[in-house]
Amino acid sequence: MNIHSLRGFRDLLPPESTLFACIEASAREVFALYGYQEIRIPTIESKELFVKSTGDTTDIVEKEMYAFTDQGGREVAVRPEGTPGVVRAYIEQNLSQSGRNGKYFYIGNMFRAERPQAGRYREFTQIGAEYIGNASPFADAETITLLVRLLEKAGLPGLSVEINSLGCGECRKSYREILLNHLKANIATLCEPCKNRIDRNPLRALDCKIDGPALAEKAPKLTLCAPCAEHFDRTRTLLKSSGVEFTVNLNMVRGLDYYTRTVFEVKSSALGSQDAVAGGGRYDDLVKSMGGPQAPAIGWAMGVDRVAMLLKDKAPATAPAVFVIAASKEAQDAAFKILGELRAQNISADFSNLELSLKSQLRSADRSGAVIAVLLGEEEVRNSVCAIKFLKEKREQQIVPAAGLITELKQILGNAPTP
Ligand code: ATP
Ligand code: MG
Repeated sequence: MNIHSLRGFRDLLPPESTLFACIEASAREVFALYGYQEIRIPTIESKELFVKSTGDTTDIVEKEMYAFTDQGGREVAVRPEGTPGVVRAYIEQNLSQSGRNGKYFYIGNMFRAERPQAGRYREFTQIGAEYIGNASPFADAETITLLVRLLEKAGLPGLSVEINSLGCGECRKSYREILLNHLKANIATLCEPCKNRIDRNPLRALDCKIDGPALAEKAPKLTLCAPCAEHFDRTRTLLKSSGVEFTVNLNMVRGLDYYTRTVFEVKSSALGSQDAVAGGGRYDDLVKSMGGPQAPAIGWAMGVDRVAMLLKDKAPATAPAVFVIAASKEAQDAAFKILGELRAQNISADFSNLELSLKSQLRSADRSGAVIAVLLGEEEVRNSVCAIKFLKEKREQQIVPAAGLITELKQILGNAPTP
């Protein structure tokens, strides 16, 4: 076969796939603690949804979207991020009237046609949270705290949280002019794509992957209007009282069009150049601008692939508790039956090939990481007993009556260190 996976797309194998599942499971636990419920949104949406919400001057929409015309002649796109879909659902399903608390999380794969490198893939998994309908700084503090607690629960060390405020439409109006003038005065230092988009969205230049950080350093800073300054102030105070450590980074501009007020990013120095683990911000105008009710909101998305990279040495070992072996032809059916009984009793059990030699099955048992092997030969079947062999330190063998096997195993496994 000469067919390969596409560039930037990959197979997730154990133990990495197990790690992904663990991260997702621990996220679900934390979401439940904070009153979030799951939303599952479509993978493909109309292209217009992303163009209008993510923004037509963003990298995502300008060059990273997998967009195509479908069989019905519709312009569609494979989702590059989750927020637009959640917002569309919120409006379409009339969720503002649902009586629910407006807190939704999603777990899903996203697609962006960017240059693949370590920690940057064309298909990747995000865990995201959206809190729609709460304008107060309590929502900001809670959402950021939730993200930090979730990353802590996943076991991530050495994270830094950066926050900033991008103000509202009002504060941005005058800033836009000031920034545009500054950028035009320094136009020679801009990359080609930025030169072409500053008139449409000057802020984008500060977030440019090529020269954004250097530009942001020198650019004039946004002055927040009084209500925005107060909101930012309250958010910081509340975060501190929640015990969340953070720094204010006035140079941070998040790469999507819809952000207002609070934006934040979580980084890990252990990741190298793709150091962002998660990012998010408030989007007070998006729901309304997409045709919905006035519904201020805040959300974030976390890159599971990058979290998994940071945790790769902590991938949980997965092994069955028990490995079942047939030592002779006559015992094969009985061994197979025992496998079913063990599993019915919630004891994880595995086998290799009951038709192979005892030696080969024992080798597989050792390789499996199981704590105990249950061996069944012709004689054991005749006498209604089983042999139990300890596969870890002591490696001794004992004979137990078949009728008492489950009880015996439960007792041993209850004391055994979980594999
Ligand atoms: P970056 O600056 O690394 O391009 P971003 O600002 O594009 O990140 P967001 O759109 O905020 O990222 O997505 C949130 C998180 O999703 C990121 O912090 C990152 O962990 C993850 N992520 C984004 N793009 C990719 C990708 N191509 N491959 C793997 N993870 C990604
Ligand atoms: Mg990006």
